[in-house]
Amino acid sequence: MRTNGRTAPTSSASSSAEPPRRPQRAGDTAWVAEMTVQAQAQEGAWIDTDAVVIGAGPVGLWQVFECGLLGLHCHVVDVLGEAGGQCVELYADKPIYDIPGLPATTGRELAARLRQQIEPFAPHWHLGEQVTGLSSMADGRFELHTNASASTGTDTGTALRCHSVFIAAGVGAFLPRRLPLEGLRVHEGRSVFHHTLPEVEAAGREVVVAGGEDAALRQLLALAASATPPSGLTLLHRRDKFDAADPALVAALSELRAAGRVQVVAGQPVDVVLDAGELCGLRIAPPEGTEFTLPLQRLAVCLGLSPRLGPGADWGLAMARKQLVVDTARFETSVPGIHAVGDVVTYPGKRKLLLSGFHEATLAAFAAAERRRGAPVVLEYTTSSRHLQQRLGVLQA
Ligand SMILES: Cc1cc2nc3c(=O)[nH]c(=O)nc-3n(C[C@H](O)[C@H](O)[C@H](O)COP(=O)(O)OP(=O)(O)OC[C@H]3O[C@@H](n4cnc5c(N)ncnc54)[C@H](O)[C@@H]3O)c2cc1C
Repeated sequence: MRTNGRTAPTSSASSSAEPPRRPQRAGDTAWVAEMTVQAQAQEGAWIDTDAVVIGAGPVGLWQVFECGLLGLHCHVVDVLGEAGGQCVELYADKPIYDIPGLPATTGRELAARLRQQIEPFAPHWHLGEQVTGLSSMADGRFELHTNASASTGTDTGTALRCHSVFIAAGVGAFLPRRLPLEGLRVHEGRSVFHHTLPEVEAAGREVVVAGGEDAALRQLLALAASATPPSGLTLLHRRDKFDAADPALVAALSELRAAGRVQVVAGQPVDVVLDAGELCGLRIAPPEGTEFTLPLQRLAVCLGLSPRLGPGADWGLAMARKQLVVDTARFETSVPGIHAVGDVVTYPGKRKLLLSGFHEATLAAFAAAERRRGAPVVLEYTTSSRHLQQRLGVLQA
């Protein structure tokens, strides 16, 4: 299958090639004609592809594999900067014992193996982007729009057009937990960053990392080990006790503190401190005593992630108990051509297990391939099909 490598502009809101704002509901049709006109006017802004997978969790990754075997090229979108979904975000180092053929693995290892397994199909990644709009086109295809910069609050993004959509959105988009401080959001992307503070931003500056769990400690240690370290490095946590699951991280923090390379401040941030409109500190309420100002030039907020609402609610797809309703032969939603797989779906007997999601993705890929070809797809085995082996890159054409 062919893909078009055109990319949507992500720069300024005034760009003439910017995709138009559009309705968000795939189930509605009244706006289709208007959308078609707008789409034609914006032809150069679109990426055309066979399929878009929403969510790079384990099931989304397996979806790419099954689509690849059937000749469908996928673009994969995930709001997170790394593929792996819950496996990586919620239990990266915990053991998993119920993957067939793998007596024991971990969340991180499983995600890495899946990424490796889909490499032959060269998916096009859109990590760090949240799918914010999904709508049907008059010709039976679909349009999707992403917010390329959910963390900075800008709303220009990528515009994709495809024949099939696979929603593998799990429990929703994992978005960074923010510090609940009025006036902080406008500084995101300038002096406030979530999860990862780029080294270039930290170099030679007063940096505060907020958080007390693994992600915060990892960020702190990475900055301390940087070739261009900050001029000052502070860990801000509500108390001087750390909840990291990995004891090695806490031990490494103790070493840095003992060496005087990191200071720990216990307390709750209660207000922002500005200098000529720029963030220069936080007012801190300590567990005991009086408030004080913690000066900073860059703030890395590492408070973990929270899943934000399932997609169906916004996109006009049939739902039951906050899950997308699908059939069990094609794993299709209430809109033909939009499939859903993994933890985001419900059907009689659904179990939220990796194995169930992998099965769902397999049948959804067959259904999409048949819809695309307009004919049944013959089952082939990877052990014996030269055709599939060529697609996998293990046999030369
Ligand atoms: C602690 C724990 C242990 C577990 N152990 C096991 C086990 O041992 N065995 C087992 O079989 N299962 C286990 N599970 C369940 C298993 O992890 C899930 O069934 C599986 O992760 C579901 O995969 P998924 O791809 O459907 O969703 P997810 O892993 O949730 O991935 C969904 C992805 O979609 C992204 N996303 C959502 N909405 C959007 C959007 N609008 N735009 C862009 N991206 C979006 C999210 O950021 C996320 O990365 C466990 C779960 C937990 C929490």
